[in-house]
Amino acid sequence: MKNICVIGVGYVGLVTGACLADLGNRVVCVNRSKEKSDNLKKGILPIYEPGLEEIVRRNYEAKRLEFTTSYDEGLHEAEFVFIAVGTPSGSEGEADLSHVTQTAAEIAKRLVRPVVIVNKSTVPIGTGDWVADIINEHKVNDVEFAVVSNPEFLREGSAIYDFMNPDRIVLGSTNRQAAQKLAELYTPLQTTTIITDLRTAEMIKYASNCFLATKISFINEMANICEALGADVLEVARGMGSDKRIGPAFLGAGLGWGGSCFPKDVKALAHIAATHGSHPQMLRAVMEINYDQRKRVIQKLREILGTYRGKVIGLLGLSFKPNTDDMRDAPAIELVHMLESEGAKVRAYDPVAMNNAKRILPSIVYCDSPYAVAEGADALILVSEWNEFKQLDMQRIARSMRRPVLFDGRNIYDPEKMRALGFDYRGIGRGYDANGQPL
Ligand code: NAD
Repeated sequence: MKNICVIGVGYVGLVTGACLADLGNRVVCVNRSKEKSDNLKKGILPIYEPGLEEIVRRNYEAKRLEFTTSYDEGLHEAEFVFIAVGTPSGSEGEADLSHVTQTAAEIAKRLVRPVVIVNKSTVPIGTGDWVADIINEHKVNDVEFAVVSNPEFLREGSAIYDFMNPDRIVLGSTNRQAAQKLAELYTPLQTTTIITDLRTAEMIKYASNCFLATKISFINEMANICEALGADVLEVARGMGSDKRIGPAFLGAGLGWGGSCFPKDVKALAHIAATHGSHPQMLRAVMEINYDQRKRVIQKLREILGTYRGKVIGLLGLSFKPNTDDMRDAPAIELVHMLESEGAKVRAYDPVAMNNAKRILPSIVYCDSPYAVAEGADALILVSEWNEFKQLDMQRIARSMRRPVLFDGRNIYDPEKMRALGFDYRGIGRGYDANGQPL
């Protein structure tokens, strides 16, 4: 059992804290809001993540997991301090490190025993050295510390599984002993551990996210070519993905990537590259393709409907992907803005993201079911592929719409079946219909 402090109780911090407690450690999670801490003690979580509520409750009751707003309480006995605060995009696309800076200074002032400071936030290359400088500048006691970069690779929606079953653990530090000590904390997970230097570990995280975003933009570009030439991108992806050198993951053509990581991380790496004399032309193309993907949907629907003025458009799903309530950089946001700017009225339903969406998209009508969204609508856009959208009574939906136009933004429906039910079905790169028209 180790004593651990985790700063930040978002998707990464809370999952890290709860899972490390579940592995038998004593974890204190520090965050700035008393309300959040009090709620967490009552089992009310600030985020939605499948399975997290149960694991938080279990470990809180077992007194392995604590919540506080006090850094003093968090750091009092800690041997490891995890920084898991947000690193959002700044105005130029750079990573905003203000939370990390603030956190490092707060830690420094309270260091009373030797600690390993673990950076889990995704940060620009060189930040680990800079965190060490901040600690040295602000520390009051002459205490030894080491900084280890330990980037997180979990996916929202399956975060607990991913934390407990990682493909690898990446640790980067100038202090090999500290990295080894941290590696021991992860031994119950029985996975490959890569120990490297600080900057390389930080770069591994950015390179991984940028590669995944590239894979999605690549298949979206293929989808657009398929659409022009009458091939089906679903089959193309299946054919490509069966090649072990390529692999099937992240080959789903659709409305493009969004969320709290890919958009900001691709932007941040492009920014870091450009400010260090490199020319990140591929990263720029990856972002451009992603943005165009949403514009194409709006354009294709406009061609069908003639105009958006006065039309009712229904959105199925709002979160950037299924099984999360995270609305950060969700494709739905841009879609709504484009639709509203052209005079459409937008309605939407999402199983868990509507509360978050209401803060970002206050002007749309929120419905209590997919059927209510469809009632009298001129078109439906499937935005996030929640499982519950896969088994809907599509006949009922088609009949209830003013005009049964279905834009399948994630290619989850069978074009032929949808057409047989009376839909004017459009997908992403699904080839031609029997009359040679793009689907
Ligand atoms: P989040 O916004 O969900 O959580 C950030 C947390 O930090 C919040 O609880 C916030 O209140 C807290 N915080 C901010 N400043 C603080 C301070 N000074 N003191 C105490 N608490 C503070 O963010 P997230 O999604 O958990 O991401 C955190 C980091 O992990 C980011 O760098 C992100 O890029 C990275 N990451 C995220 C994911 C993901 O899927 N969300 C996956 C891997 C890595």
